[in-house]
Amino acid sequence: MHTTLRNTAAVLLTALLAGSALAATCDVEIEGNDAMQFNKQSIAVPASCKQFTVKLKHAGKLPKTAMGHNWVLTKAADAQAVATDGIAAGADKAYVKAGDARVIAHTKLIGGGEADSVGFDVAKLKAGEAYAWFCSFPGHSSLMKGTLTLAK
Ligand code: ZN
Repeated sequence: MHTTLRNTAAVLLTALLAGSALAATCDVEIEGNDAMQFNKQSIAVPASCKQFTVKLKHAGKLPKTAMGHNWVLTKAADAQAVATDGIAAGADKAYVKAGDARVIAHTKLIGGGEADSVGFDVAKLKAGEAYAWFCSFPGHSSLMKGTLTLAK
């Protein structure tokens, strides 16, 4: 009897520890560089997160006027049009069209050595929908892009 109780407690404790070890990570770090590259291609957002934060770092040295990077999230189907409208919006708007409802989240445009982060409500994401993210600096989105999905 005594041993059974102790074993039960041990099993419960193990389950608790395993639970905390498996807790969802609700942020991700992404680095851009002077070679017009991001160090990630895909992001899976755990459905158990309320908020998800993307921390963007520019690991290069070039100024944002020459090699600026941002992180813009849209539905995959909207990405091309949002990138085109962002370029039309110009440097003054940091290459994101003002009030663009297709943009789910975006960081500031940053240069070498700078960083910015953006958080968004995970409730905005739908399971099964394909999302895309990219740098909207002119000419960058063909190389600097990735996919995002809501994980189960
Ligand atoms: Zn860029």
